[in-house]
Amino acid sequence: MLHINHYYRPDTLEEAWQLRQKKGSAILGGTGWLRLGEHTIQHAIDLSSLDLSYIQEDEDGFLIGAMTTLREIEINEPLNKAFDGAFTEAVWHIVGVQFRNCATIGGSAYGRFGFSDVLALLLALDCEVHLYKEGWVPIAEFAGRSNEADLLTEIRIRKNRRVVYLSERLNANDFPACAVAVSNGTDGWRCTIGARPCRAKLVTLPTDCGSRDESGLRKIAEKAAASVTYGGGMRGSAAYRQAVAAVLIRRGIQALCAKGGQA
Ligand SMILES: Cc1cc2nc3c(=O)[nH]c(=O)nc-3n(C[C@H](O)[C@H](O)[C@H](O)COP(=O)(O)OP(=O)(O)OC[C@H]3O[C@@H](n4cnc5c(N)ncnc54)[C@H](O)[C@@H]3O)c2cc1C
Repeated sequence: MLHINHYYRPDTLEEAWQLRQKKGSAILGGTGWLRLGEHTIQHAIDLSSLDLSYIQEDEDGFLIGAMTTLREIEINEPLNKAFDGAFTEAVWHIVGVQFRNCATIGGSAYGRFGFSDVLALLLALDCEVHLYKEGWVPIAEFAGRSNEADLLTEIRIRKNRRVVYLSERLNANDFPACAVAVSNGTDGWRCTIGARPCRAKLVTLPTDCGSRDESGLRKIAEKAAASVTYGGGMRGSAAYRQAVAAVLIRRGIQALCAKGGQA
């Protein structure tokens, strides 16, 4: 059970940041993850008065506020139109609608969970997270770090990549046994492989992915899948995850080619 000793709902980001510097403090996102297990938060900081729930589109891309729920991301039409439904596909499996109405993109990105569908998708895109004090940080750099005492305020995603998201689950609402996002833009093809079960990793794919035949694609996908490490567990062995990753990467490339490739 989660115990909270002091609860705050600051009116400014600066106030929230100051509170976050206190020992034993934590930001509350949707508390979907935070409330699991037996632990105590000395100073709990609720960001819900800071107007951080929005999805804004402009010519270049999207700005998504940290307190935007996974459900809003799932059903937002402009976002899913721009990325061929990839956001819906990445989040609709997560627990259930009530849960996704609470869990936030800020908590999902900040958590950098090894099983994260959200992180696996964001990494395949041209994406940055905004930390209140530090400013914009590329998602790949952020994903490689450990937790810091800053506030994640928003996420910026540029509309310069096509993307396909695929995951393998033992049942529809379980954690993924393997998650893959394949994307293509003017700087080439890449994929992320997540839920291995460690944090998603970005892998660069050959520039001529789009012109390979089936057996060529198999080789590319197997090589990409073999370039990261896997662990075993109740959802599958390391060898199983690697085999699934290769299939998902190949299917992702094929699906992107079928959609016309580059953004
Ligand atoms: C049973 C269960 C199953 C799940 N299955 C999946 C799944 O299949 N796929 C998947 O991708 N995810 C899954 N998740 C994770 C879920 O989607 C969310 O990512 C998770 O709940 C965290 O989001 P939250 O808003 O609830 O954050 P919280 O639980 O409130 O916070 C998580 C962490 O982020 C910090 N934090 C939150 N917001 C901010 C911020 N703005 N700035 C700085 N720090 C912040 C918190 O202090 C905490 O350390 C699952 C979670 C649960 C509980």
